[in-house]
Amino acid sequence: MNMPETLYMVIPCYNEEEVLRETANQLREKYASLRSRSMISPESRVVFVNDGSKDKTWEIIQELHSAEPEIFSGINLSHNCGHQNAVLAGLMTVKDICGVCITMDADLQDDINAVDEMLERFYEGNHVVYGVRSARKTDTFFKKFTAEAFYKFMKAMGADVVYNHADFRLMSRRVLQELAEFKEVNLFLRGMVPLIGFKSCSVYYERRERLAGESKYPLRKMISFAINGITSFSTKPLKLITSLGFMMSIISVIAFIWSFVVKITGSSVVGWSSTICSIWLIGGLQLFCLGIIGEYVGKIYAEVKGRPRFIVEDFLNETGVEFINKCSNNEKNDGI
Ligand code: UDP
Ligand code: MG
Repeated sequence: MNMPETLYMVIPCYNEEEVLRETANQLREKYASLRSRSMISPESRVVFVNDGSKDKTWEIIQELHSAEPEIFSGINLSHNCGHQNAVLAGLMTVKDICGVCITMDADLQDDINAVDEMLERFYEGNHVVYGVRSARKTDTFFKKFTAEAFYKFMKAMGADVVYNHADFRLMSRRVLQELAEFKEVNLFLRGMVPLIGFKSCSVYYERRERLAGESKYPLRKMISFAINGITSFSTKPLKLITSLGFMMSIISVIAFIWSFVVKITGSSVVGWSSTICSIWLIGGLQLFCLGIIGEYVGKIYAEVKGRPRFIVEDFLNETGVEFINKCSNNEKNDGI
């Protein structure tokens, strides 16, 4: 791969006014250092994607862009689309103007210094470089426990994800072009990227505490994210339901024979509690299984509608605008 490539860093931001300026300061330093070592081209940019924030996040992004358009760009989504969609919006916007891109959260939990190593791995010929947490020292016990349970459960359910890798990753332009072919509405990027293939490797770093502001991923969101990941990548739960139904049928046959024997031997006792318990158990199991099937039906519904996954309202980027104009002019010329 030719050195230096144009690096676009895509940073999704939702209500990040407290941390954004500090993030920008650190990224500015990182870009200066990478440029001085000719690791990235002068056209490289940081793209903040404003995911429908309710605070001053977009105003700050606009300020950063007008003060230093040679470093900071911004994308404004028309409404809150969620973390995964915000990342995808950034990636799809820059896929034709970058040589390589890195996605990272806005809260500086990921180690910016890992970017150097990621780029080195990229220049060695890797198309995807996963940022993997080597330790979870700063996470609370609860976060650590739930997060690790998440990866183990995902694996057990057949959705193969890179252990302890979130969305801090480098992707080459080639990988972005292929990612654009994945049209699914239910996004789970960390499951999709490994499916693209190409040469990949991991870079290890220590994940820090959030610099300011609060997590937008409370337990409730984490659980729904895990369910989304599993049901988007695996039909194992459906198979488990079939096995469960089969097991229950065998048990019921045994129970039937047993009750018949008890009746014949004449020692039958009217068993109210056992009847009630089995009704609740079977009813609960049935509802649970129906719920799982419903998850998949809901997904099919969303996919069939095929609504846009994000809507870009503004894109602040000089190079990008020039590029887009150039493309449309070429198309016009071709038409004539
Ligand atoms: N985020 C987003 N849209 C949302 C929720 C979160 O773009 O609807 C961004 C957020 O600004 C941050 C990243 O996604 O940059 C990860 O969120 P957060 O740090 O709150 O999650 P955690 O690290 O606690 O899992
Ligand atoms: Mg975070």
